[in-house]
Amino acid sequence: MTALEDRAIPTYITELDAAGLRDFVRSLGWPAYRAKQIARWVYRRGIFDFRAMTDLPSEAREVLAERARAHSGAVVTRLHAPDGTSKFAIAFPDGQVIETVLLAYRFGYSVCVSTQAGCRMGCRFCASTIGGRARDLTAGEMMSQVLIAHAEALERPASGGAGLDPDDPDSLAGGATDGGSADLLGIRRVVLMGSGEPFDNYDQVVEFIRRLMDPELLGLGARRITVSTSGVVPGIVKLAHSGLGVNLAVSLHAPDDATRTLLMPVNKKWPVHDVVAASKEYFRLTSRRVTFEYALIKNVNDSKEHAEALAQLLSGFPCHVNLIRLNPVSAGKFEPADKYTVEEFVATLAARQVAVTVRRRLGIEIDAACGQLRRRLVPTFSLGGANGGEDEPCG
Ligand code: SF4
Repeated sequence: MTALEDRAIPTYITELDAAGLRDFVRSLGWPAYRAKQIARWVYRRGIFDFRAMTDLPSEAREVLAERARAHSGAVVTRLHAPDGTSKFAIAFPDGQVIETVLLAYRFGYSVCVSTQAGCRMGCRFCASTIGGRARDLTAGEMMSQVLIAHAEALERPASGGAGLDPDDPDSLAGGATDGGSADLLGIRRVVLMGSGEPFDNYDQVVEFIRRLMDPELLGLGARRITVSTSGVVPGIVKLAHSGLGVNLAVSLHAPDDATRTLLMPVNKKWPVHDVVAASKEYFRLTSRRVTFEYALIKNVNDSKEHAEALAQLLSGFPCHVNLIRLNPVSAGKFEPADKYTVEEFVATLAARQVAVTVRRRLGIEIDAACGQLRRRLVPTFSLGGANGGEDEPCG
């Protein structure tokens, strides 16, 4: 590679961990503390323009503007729903397009992050998998999604947005976390529940989580991070032993192998009982209560018998079930369960002492469920994957 070509490829700050960022500033002949200054602007203040980083010398700002970029994502579509949900289609330099969702809650914002462009798991109710898996995302590309959503949150007039002072540790944005370090401004939770199966991209996912938790970067507490899997048993066990201690969500969607295999081909490899056994192991090793996601689909998995079987499956396990009416996938063959069926399902579980919550379907007006925006963008971009919000069970 020639020196000219080398200079043409920018360094993306989000592709570096804290040590890598220090090495980068040292390579420019600067003291290591410049890394902290840059990280503070990018990760805490949502400022991606190096020329606006006023505590850096003007020459340093110019060098960074020439040699580096804060992150590699470019927002190509930005949709906003009346309930506060925003969805971003984000393109990376190689042309891959993925989706990220920002969800507004009373306590602040959650970001739903994609871990792969597309997905190969083949869940029958999911638009993300329709074109298969295009490629894995890097830890830096996952971080790009958080930072883009964060920048949006800082613009908002409510629920953790405008009025928050990045330097005020008592603001909603800057409060201490369970881990004792500062939260990412305005972003209270990061859920790896977008397009892709996180355990199909384990190493980059774990690196992303480490960077989320690194106090030199974001310092997000483990309890504020949730990894959602379609039921990849070795991944569950590996994460349990990783020491990260993040939350685990498992897309269950059926209490028996016949129904689950119909919905999720992954069940052929790792059947229901193996998935629940691995989840119990996760709880045993981490003390983190596991959440089981269950999308209620009309005449498929929503009967009283299914509810009874689910209660039996989870009997004695201190877990939580999140129920949601399926978000219909365009051109999909499944329909959401009727509302009264949902109520009956909940009542059956509650009567058997299963902790259960019915989730709202957020962002329906903007196709916030798994892969639906991507499905609309595919004719435009022909690549990529996408996914839903935190309340939209997915990977
Ligand atoms: S639900 Fe999740 S794991 Fe299943 S195909 Fe969709 S993105 Fe992949």
